[in-house]
Amino acid sequence: MASIAFQWPEPALEGNAFRVLARLLGIEGDPKHHANELRSWLRPALAKLGPSRITQSLMELGATICLPSPKCLGCPVADQCEAKKLDAMDRIPPAIKRRKPMESELWLVAVEAEGFWLLHEPAQKGLLAGLWKWPAIEISSSVEENIAADSSLPYASLELRSWPGWTQIYTHRRELVNPFHLRLEQRFESPGGCHWIPGNELNQLALGKRDQRLRELITTTGTTPLHGPAATSLLSHIKRDAIHVG
Ligand code: SF4
Repeated sequence: MASIAFQWPEPALEGNAFRVLARLLGIEGDPKHHANELRSWLRPALAKLGPSRITQSLMELGATICLPSPKCLGCPVADQCEAKKLDAMDRIPPAIKRRKPMESELWLVAVEAEGFWLLHEPAQKGLLAGLWKWPAIEISSSVEENIAADSSLPYASLELRSWPGWTQIYTHRRELVNPFHLRLEQRFESPGGCHWIPGNELNQLALGKRDQRLRELITTTGTTPLHGPAATSLLSHIKRDAIHVG
């Protein structure tokens, strides 16, 4: 922050500072919508009283006293606080409504054939940009219906292993991950965005936590699943490009 590091009179507004300023000035609604006005209001104070001192005082006040449930009795600026005068500390600033995380369940599949592994190339942007991913199939009722229809497909020489699943938590998403290793005798034409990676390069690929965990699992002993998708169904979904890359 320039105000602390270089003593520039440039206000640093983060969550705590927004809350303190909203209450001090009695700003209704989301104080982030008033960021420019708040910066203009703060600049003269920073120039006069010291950028680092004011910035740190605001952050300290927000972190220790002017908390979401404020401790107004011990507040050094209570006399100048508009929210306190209006007894409006509970609505200034308004509570942020947190989005409920989306939940999904998927099969994460390490497909191996002829010493190669099938992986999806990294996305350019998004949550997992720059990271390779295993093919994953998001489970939905239509996928389950297709699986019932596919279970008699005549793929030969399939071996399927699985391990106990886990819940992978992202900022706005929770995934119940069911990990599998599907070994085939022969490679097939890779679906869009997927590539066959030589086995000796697998450990050099950058993977996210979810996909790293499956890379570690495939070196351990799994079990042949008694429940869940049949190997033929997993393969036919992967070949048909029914791939969710997360
Ligand atoms: S008086 Fe209460 S609401 Fe106002 S700045 Fe101090 S702690 Fe925050």
